[in-house]
Amino acid sequence: MSEQNRRAVFLDEMGLGPVWSQRTGAPQLLDEPVIADDSAESGVHMPNIRVDESMSSAWTDSAVQTAATAPQAALATTSATSVTEVTQMDWAQLKSVVAACTKCDLCKSRTQTVFGVGDPKARWLFVGEGPGRNEDFQGEPFVGPAGKLLDNMFAAMALKRGDNTYIANIVKCRPTDAAKGDRPPAAEEMDACLPYLERQIALIKPTIIIALGKTAALALLKLDPATPVSSLRGTVHRHADVPVIVTYHPAYLLRKPKDKSKAWADLCLAMQSYAGSASK
Ligand code: SF4
Repeated sequence: MSEQNRRAVFLDEMGLGPVWSQRTGAPQLLDEPVIADDSAESGVHMPNIRVDESMSSAWTDSAVQTAATAPQAALATTSATSVTEVTQMDWAQLKSVVAACTKCDLCKSRTQTVFGVGDPKARWLFVGEGPGRNEDFQGEPFVGPAGKLLDNMFAAMALKRGDNTYIANIVKCRPTDAAKGDRPPAAEEMDACLPYLERQIALIKPTIIIALGKTAALALLKLDPATPVSSLRGTVHRHADVPVIVTYHPAYLLRKPKDKSKAWADLCLAMQSYAGSASK
């Protein structure tokens, strides 16, 4: 089965089949089905793209993965690594320093650091806010239901985890509240951890970055915490010279499935921007 047919079958199984139709002569990005405009609903101006509400059903929930027994992370000696030193590190050095990092209090409650996963030369970089319970146990970002949804988002974009994609977080250790539930990272925790992500970005040299949720968007774009994520969607931002698209966090979309169509609009904008950047 050809790649195109394989993808068509996959999309059909996701419930996307009826809204995708081949357009001959379309540019590379749109070599797959082009869909009509939904800008009135989404607030995103995207010629040639329609976002159908039926897309919302494409990214489905799944049962929570059983947390594997994870090795206890050994908290090594406190690293006095400076930001300047981090900017000089290769992948192996960076992973080693992160694994032993005690720069903020999140090190005290983590099972292990969650460095990131994927192709170190990926053109697509996806950034979330930080590990949750499942990620803390498994040592990998975006596992469990939100991870499954992200994988389905990848599939709808003809992408795949680990293949030309890299997934990372703003902070590498799980932030927890007093009840041991997940919480967003605090400003000082993000400040402490961001140099690691910045080094990952410098090593990967992605063509495009997708900020998954408000925390990731505001940290990457260095914006005021009061900025609503809705005001950031539909625009191609920049992190240095790399285009950044802001969309909803998959965990939010699990709670608000009606907004999956808006997220799909964001991903279509990302594919357009990627095609423009990759062709230069
Ligand atoms: S969150 Fe980042 S800065 Fe804080 S201890 Fe973990 S790796 Fe270090």
